Amino acid sequence: MTTELEPVAEFRARARVWLRDNLPPAPPDQGPPDSKEEWDRARELQRMLHDGGFAGICFPEEYGGLGLTPAHQQAFTKESYAYEMPVILNVPTLSICAATLVDLGTEEQKREYLPAVLRGDIVLVQLLSEPRGGSDLAGLTTRAERDGDRWILNGSKIWSSGAYAADYGLCLARTNWEVPKHRGLTMFLVPIGAAGVTVQRIKQVTGSTEFCQEFFDDVVLADEAVIGQVDNGWEAASRLLYHERSAIGGTSPYISGARPHIGGEESPILDIARDSGQLDDIRVREDIGEARAMQVVRDQLIDHITRSVLAGELPPAAGSITRLFSAENSWLQTDLAVKVAGAAAATHAPGDPVDTARIGTDFLFRAAWSLAGGSTEIARTVISERVLGMPREHAADRDVPFNEVKRGR
Ligand SMILES: Cc1cc2nc3c(=O)[nH]c(=O)nc-3n(C[C@H](O)[C@H](O)[C@H](O)COP(=O)(O)OP(=O)(O)OC[C@H]3O[C@@H](n4cnc5c(N)ncnc54)[C@H](O)[C@@H]3O)c2cc1C
Repeated sequence: MTTELEPVAEFRARARVWLRDNLPPAPPDQGPPDSKEEWDRARELQRMLHDGGFAGICFPEEYGGLGLTPAHQQAFTKESYAYEMPVILNVPTLSICAATLVDLGTEEQKREYLPAVLRGDIVLVQLLSEPRGGSDLAGLTTRAERDGDRWILNGSKIWSSGAYAADYGLCLARTNWEVPKHRGLTMFLVPIGAAGVTVQRIKQVTGSTEFCQEFFDDVVLADEAVIGQVDNGWEAASRLLYHERSAIGGTSPYISGARPHIGGEESPILDIARDSGQLDDIRVREDIGEARAMQVVRDQLIDHITRSVLAGELPPAAGSITRLFSAENSWLQTDLAVKVAGAAAATHAPGDPVDTARIGTDFLFRAAWSLAGGSTEIARTVISERVLGMPREHAADRDVPFNEVKRGR
């Protein structure tokens, strides 16, 4: 029996009232979370959404979600812009890790973890990239070895956003060295607090310590920690990367309360030009126009790709198009903002008439948008091979057992 879904307009009206009555106004944007307190606050807000009946809008009902459509999610998100929301739980917890669990988790895993995630009790992170490089993901060397009915994990992961505040990480490890690289991997759900896991924070040029490196020394994992099938971790990784591209590119239905793509904030350039008295400058007006035009194109592109993938007119890999565009657009927006702000971008002090607080750090961080979620070079390869159907690029290690592949030490 199918039950009628609540019409989007009614859902939106109900959300508007609930948000107004329950959530405080949005605080000023403070950049990436850098303290445990910010994560605790996000968990608390997620709990409020859950108890209010607005968590996991597109997650299946049987695992604690609402089972509604992307249109319901978009409507809720638009209503929520003005309120304090647990936006740091969107990526990677909800839109990447939990989404992968929905696709590949066992019934037990889904029942155990998904409702807890939607209640804000569990924060998930991705443990994929390694110190030797993140682009050649299938060439990773963190290993999990069988020991009776358990696994022993050794190795290191890096650039894991927010791992210091997380409960579990989805960790891709090598479980078979005698087959080509894509065929010997397994995805595990690793408790960050397990014995043998060491988490170190990394300080970036912006001052943020959001990134972490993890070291695994004989970490014991049960068979129940395997996501998907043993040695078939590339399928799990592909699913996870699909969700990552969707999240970064702006087509994920699991993101709530934030503009669903990198660089999604509205461009500050108009405010800067107004506050600094440059609105009549013809060159500044051109910059404002260029920034605005790119935002409009981005929104249209996201809409078009989302609909085309859902309708089966484009392959899921088309998420790489929006991922690439979002990165290019983020660079452009940041560069134009610095151009218009001039020296104020570097010298902001609290109370300055022109609010340029974030511009300098955004500028320093902008290279990250070409790397996060897989680099833009890799996105171009994905688009050429898997969207346009061009020949695959040469790989010296294709079909070679991994233990015979030459590697640097
Ligand atoms: C904001 C942010 C958040 C992140 N969060 C996480 C996270 O939570 N978990 C996680 O596991 N990782 C995370 N990462 C890491 C990210 O996935 C990697 O940075 C990315 O995959 C690239 O890997 P790398 O930095 O090791 O660069 P490398 O793989 O060493 O590549 C270096 C350069 O070479 C280029 N290159 C490499 N191979 C090719 C090729 N075949 N063709 C053309 N060019 C190539 C790359 O494009 C890049 O420009 C995050 C990164 C950022 C910036």
